[in-house]
Amino acid sequence: LSPVITVDGPSGVGKGTLAMQLADALGWHFLDSGSLYRLTGLSAHNQQIDFANHQQLADVAAHLDVQFLRDSQGGLQILLASEDVTAEIRTEQVGNLASQVAPVAEVRQALFQRQRDFQLPPGLVADGRDMGTVVFPGAELKLFLTASAEERAKRRYIQLKEKGVDVSIARLAEEVRQRDERDTNRSIAPLCPADDAVMIDSTEMTIEEVFESAMTYVRD
Ligand code: C5P
Repeated sequence: LSPVITVDGPSGVGKGTLAMQLADALGWHFLDSGSLYRLTGLSAHNQQIDFANHQQLADVAAHLDVQFLRDSQGGLQILLASEDVTAEIRTEQVGNLASQVAPVAEVRQALFQRQRDFQLPPGLVADGRDMGTVVFPGAELKLFLTASAEERAKRRYIQLKEKGVDVSIARLAEEVRQRDERDTNRSIAPLCPADDAVMIDSTEMTIEEVFESAMTYVRD
């Protein structure tokens, strides 16, 4: 099997940026597992599915018609049933829908093999909450990123602003806090570092510094 590097941590910590940079530097594949939960939440919402109906939610997850493309600037473009939802799925509203479908065992089960299928030669960098603990427990390197809640809300704010999404920073901070709490306290695949994960606190670090720090572990 091809090697895997996992990058887990709370929302807005810079996992996606780091994971994509590592994938590019190594020439490996990249999995943004959070987008699968976001797409499931968005599709279920659009189809007006009752979120208490776990089997229907799992059906949505199992039949997501999604395409991941790299855009010309090296970013990730996401198509749902051929429609570009790249910007829409990054909103905190969709993040919220994602963290409501994420505690559902049937949904996680439906997405499990889908995520495992990304493990292709020459290797995979996967980012999420449970990449190192559940989906790729045998990963060669497990990174767990942290940063203060204030710093993460600020980063999320800047990221959304760049995408043209207008939000209040105070409201965003509160929504991010609620989502982290839900992700950490759920009984299934809660957000926590794997026993053998390397911790990187990025609060005072630039994107370049986080990347350099991660690369020192990759080179080991
Ligand atoms: O990483 P991102 O913020 O896009 O994830 C959205 C939500 O999806 C998270 O708040 C979490 O509830 C869920 N998620 C998860 N397991 C993953 C990735 C994301 O439960 N591996």
